[in-house]
Amino acid sequence: MNVLVINCGSSSLKYQLINMRDESILAKGLVERIGIEGSVLKHEILGKDKVVIERPMPDHKVAIGLVLDALVDEKHGAIKDMKEIGAVGHRVVHAGEKFSGSVIITDEVINALEECIELAPLHNPANLMGIAACKELMEDTPMVGVFDTAFHQTMPKSSYIYPLPYELYEKYAIRKYGFHGTSHRYVSQRAAEFIGEKLEDLKMITCHLGNGASLAAIDGGKCMDTSMGFTPLEGLVMGTRCGDIDPAIVTFIMDKENLDTTGINDLMNKKSGVFGISGVSSDFRDIENAAKEGNERAQLALDAFDKRVKKYIGSYAAELGGVDVIVFTAGLGENSIANREEICKGLEFMGVKIDSEKNNVRGKDTLISTADSKVKVLVIPTNEELMIAKDTQALL
Ligand code: AMP
Repeated sequence: MNVLVINCGSSSLKYQLINMRDESILAKGLVERIGIEGSVLKHEILGKDKVVIERPMPDHKVAIGLVLDALVDEKHGAIKDMKEIGAVGHRVVHAGEKFSGSVIITDEVINALEECIELAPLHNPANLMGIAACKELMEDTPMVGVFDTAFHQTMPKSSYIYPLPYELYEKYAIRKYGFHGTSHRYVSQRAAEFIGEKLEDLKMITCHLGNGASLAAIDGGKCMDTSMGFTPLEGLVMGTRCGDIDPAIVTFIMDKENLDTTGINDLMNKKSGVFGISGVSSDFRDIENAAKEGNERAQLALDAFDKRVKKYIGSYAAELGGVDVIVFTAGLGENSIANREEICKGLEFMGVKIDSEKNNVRGKDTLISTADSKVKVLVIPTNEELMIAKDTQALL
């Protein structure tokens, strides 16, 4: 069966057509600037050139229509007929407390996701637009929803409850949800497979370190805690997000800088993190280069980032009562040799020993700890699309 994986953002759309027989990618692409002047579709077929299609795309339905046309196109298509798409798997950011796993999309599911819009006002509406568009354009093709929050639903209440008046949890569902769940689930499963051990027997800490970054504490394949919270703002120092800060700073800055809620949200989400500390960039490559040239604030940003990851690893090891495997994934986790080394430095006391030669690797499944390291440390490139496709196939 071929599964079309769709990941809709507010003005963008990523897709992959995956042949589940051998898990090969038949075609993939990206639509940018949906609803904005200059809409463009970049479409790529396995083993062939990229095509760039510039066409007005006022909404997601037109964009998905063009993607489907590209997939069956005589010249740069991957399939002959739409019927060769057996199912569509949609990435959906927030399922609140409603779903703890992937589900076949029905009208009831759509209603439930609409109720979650309040929890993810930037993401869920775009995801729902993608679902609505596919429903219209591919009426008879079954669809599955795979949620970023679902994997974290196994957290015990003591992990997800905030120490605020309990009525606020009951009234507004304010609690820790966690994000990047599909990635944490994929790399934890892949890591166990890679080292030839049973996921059920392992205590794992997975570090998804990209522009957005989060850790998960996983016991026997079940998430016990994660660093992102009610929103993706909590936890680590990120590209432009501040992560954990003293909550009293929020009202202090609002008073001093005369900011309203939009202003403070903007500051914490878009102007903070390593970008805010360094003043250089949100991209770690730029910051690493600036640090090498002697920029002290760039070095400070890297140090603050690494220290926060290290602190979370320590606290999750305590929470899990030990750790067998640490996994690094996502843009920075897969590629930054220096950051991985710095994060693991000083963790020898808990049995973490990195082999610097093995750590000299980017973007491929690798065991980077020494043979005598009690904790196995791995680099596992994430593959959320494959995870979505696998869930979709399994449900159908
Ligand atoms: P993601 O959000 O997973 O796509 O990760 C994006 C981030 O990964 C970028 O902001 C970069 O800072 C980081 N990244 C990607 N490649 C490298 C690299 N070779 N060295 C350091 N950081 C990298």
